[in-house]
Amino acid sequence: MLIQKFVLGPIDNNTYVVVSEESKKAFVIDPSFGSIDKLSEFLEKNSFTLEAILLTHSHWDHIADVKIIKDKFFIPIYIHKLDANSLENPGPIDFLPSLKVEGVKPDVLLENGKKIKIGDIDILVLHTPGHTPGGVCYLIEKEKTLFSGDTLFKGSFGRVDLPYSNPEDMINSLKKLSKLDSDTKVYPGHGSFTTIGEENWMKDSDKFI
Ligand SMILES: [Zn+2]
Ligand SMILES: [Zn+2]
Repeated sequence: MLIQKFVLGPIDNNTYVVVSEESKKAFVIDPSFGSIDKLSEFLEKNSFTLEAILLTHSHWDHIADVKIIKDKFFIPIYIHKLDANSLENPGPIDFLPSLKVEGVKPDVLLENGKKIKIGDIDILVLHTPGHTPGGVCYLIEKEKTLFSGDTLFKGSFGRVDLPYSNPEDMINSLKKLSKLDSDTKVYPGHGSFTTIGEENWMKDSDKFI
């Protein structure tokens, strides 16, 4: 399994492309602004086929290029059912009114425990609300790899003071993630790579939130 990271957009989003090397099938997680160009170039250069768009949640910085990618590749969009509405109706970006994000209808509505297979990669959906009601992490158990969106960052967690955020849900979500194997690799929605073991504080997250 190959992971390509692009740092994109006005608030440095991590957009990940994950490739099953044997089948050359790929999926993109949280395509931010400018993903379409980076992605197209990367896929063409390596003869990879894009199979799906996986979203950790529906905030504008994570969904910016979803509509453009969908229109070009005609592939399914996956998002938790509780974040689907704001993917379809993203609304204006308050502090960057010149940037526009187009809404789009998702194809697959996720819930906790749902399994997705792309190429030979098995992905398990973990519902981790708190930052948004429909926030999810994507766990690839065989590779001990977690894409944590804006739930878990290196040394930190996603904002819980936003509309629809819920601090108590965030505490429960972080405690849930703390139970994963400590050598699980974590690829967050912003900032640096980390591991579950390095983020030991999650067990006592109620003291910080
Ligand atoms: Zn967010
Ligand atoms: Zn974000």
